[in-house]
Amino acid sequence: MNITKHIALFTLLLMVFSCQTETKEEKQTASYAEELHSFARPNTSAIKHLNLDIDVDFETEIISGIATYTIENNNATEIILDTKFLVIDNVEADGKTTTFKLGEFDELLGQPLTIDIKNSTKTITVTYKTTEKTEALQWLTPQQTADKAHPFLFTQGQAILTRTWIPIQDSPQIRITYDATVKVPKELMAVMSAENPKTKSANGEYSFKMKQPISPYLIALAVGDIEYKAVSNRTGVYAEKSMVDKAQFEFSDMEKMVVAAENLYGDYDWDQFDVIVLPPSFPFGGMENPRLTFATPTVIAGDKSLTSLIAHELAHSWSGNLVTNATWNDFWLNEGFTVYFEIRIMEAVYGKDRANMIALIGRQDLDDEIENLKKEPNRTKLKLNLKGKNPDDGMNSIAYDKGYLFLRTLEETVGREKFDVFLKNYFKTHAFSTITTEKFLNYLNANLLEPNNITFNTEEWIFQPGIPSNQAIIASDKFANAEKTLNHFLKSDTIDASLTIDWTTLEWVHFIRNFPKTMTAKDVSRFDEAFNLSNATNSHIAMVWFEQAINLDYHGNNVDQNIEDFLIRVGRRWYVETLFKAFEKNGKTEEALAIYKKSRANYHSVTANTIDKLLGL
Ligand SMILES: [Zn+2]
Repeated sequence: MNITKHIALFTLLLMVFSCQTETKEEKQTASYAEELHSFARPNTSAIKHLNLDIDVDFETEIISGIATYTIENNNATEIILDTKFLVIDNVEADGKTTTFKLGEFDELLGQPLTIDIKNSTKTITVTYKTTEKTEALQWLTPQQTADKAHPFLFTQGQAILTRTWIPIQDSPQIRITYDATVKVPKELMAVMSAENPKTKSANGEYSFKMKQPISPYLIALAVGDIEYKAVSNRTGVYAEKSMVDKAQFEFSDMEKMVVAAENLYGDYDWDQFDVIVLPPSFPFGGMENPRLTFATPTVIAGDKSLTSLIAHELAHSWSGNLVTNATWNDFWLNEGFTVYFEIRIMEAVYGKDRANMIALIGRQDLDDEIENLKKEPNRTKLKLNLKGKNPDDGMNSIAYDKGYLFLRTLEETVGREKFDVFLKNYFKTHAFSTITTEKFLNYLNANLLEPNNITFNTEEWIFQPGIPSNQAIIASDKFANAEKTLNHFLKSDTIDASLTIDWTTLEWVHFIRNFPKTMTAKDVSRFDEAFNLSNATNSHIAMVWFEQAINLDYHGNNVDQNIEDFLIRVGRRWYVETLFKAFEKNGKTEEALAIYKKSRANYHSVTANTIDKLLGL
């Protein structure tokens, strides 16, 4: 043995030693932030992989099966999962039946499922079934679908509903991979937020794999008589037969959007980007389930005018799915970044005019929200405190539009070039991990503000209510023109419809939302005669028109019946809530209650809970 070898051996020993030290240190520092909305204690034992084996029974409207978890066990003697409205039949640790306890029921959080394990336990298996009270699942009758022939099922996990169909550590800080076997009636197809089939199986059995680690709120399932059509080799649509061609046309720019997004902030990390168009009761515009965005059919306008929603859900593939808010108090990190990214994608694909209009509509929504919350200014802070509250309470324009305004102001302060480099690195550095607001602030200071010697009132933006005075000013020539046209129409006896000939949906929305509060029903009627807005087929235009009809006490052109039909058919919470709010605000509670009596059964729990609260039920 010569000296060189001795040195080499010493170096090797040193390396082994330092590696071990590092691992030890990592373990000590790997800790999860305080979590208000989960019973789990992942610092002692955390789930890492889920194998799900379930049956979907449309007769009983119950999902039953077995969830097996690979766990990271830090010398624990128990592991806690979140459950709500689940029946737990049996629990095993490493294949042997073990004891478990379901804790006290909490209205918001459900019940902790505490499972006894050994410090050597590597897997746990839970045999369970859902109940009729489940909040994530919506079972639809054939009548509630587009084709009216077969039933349909979809899940909605965000924010804390996954625990109502799978026992799980239901915190966004948890990241797991999963695979699943799902059995459904053989005339139906199942799809998940995972690698998906493109055709129906012969026996109704489907296998899924999600190889990238995701937060539990992103586990999703839809089952229905659906078909697949590709848009490009990595994008496509699932929908019922009567919708699938329309969806393929409406979303034909998807590949362009993915390319634009990648050019901005780096590679798309999820391989496939598909969209499933659900029946109209789906409570959101879209839900960014990885690889398979769930979307409302109300975005199918026939002219691609509402596809900023697709840009939004696509942007979540970076902000939200790749870099995830650690807790629901940090929700703005998911949504503010996503609105910013959405508008950048729209600008890249459709130009600045369209991007500015979207931004300005958001800016107006933000003013409305701040007005709504004027008695609760703390709720207008970006960083929330949702202790004891449903995370849904934080899902308003503050996270989205104040979050956007903060990032846009930051962009204008540091310059777009530097800001884009910063954002690209932010996504790359934090890929497949979760982040708190405080961690983001440190990263922002160290990587953007300090190196460029920039002082910025970040703390005011994030921890104070309202909008700081250094806000970016958003303007749109198109909207200025729509306002001018509105004033012109209000003053003249005739309406020259040719002045609106090249208007997009967004201009119509702006035009209608700008009706003066004192506008007479006679004027509303003149506009309706000229443009037949009471029968608008574009859902966004219809919604804002209906809102004004309620505000201005207009009842012509069958509008009352159309409002009722719309509210019975569509379960998208934003639309439904806007219209019921308008009824309430104008002292028309009786009308609201009469419609709600007929429409409530068609809504997902997310929408029904919001409207119950709004109407004081
Ligand atoms: Zn979003």
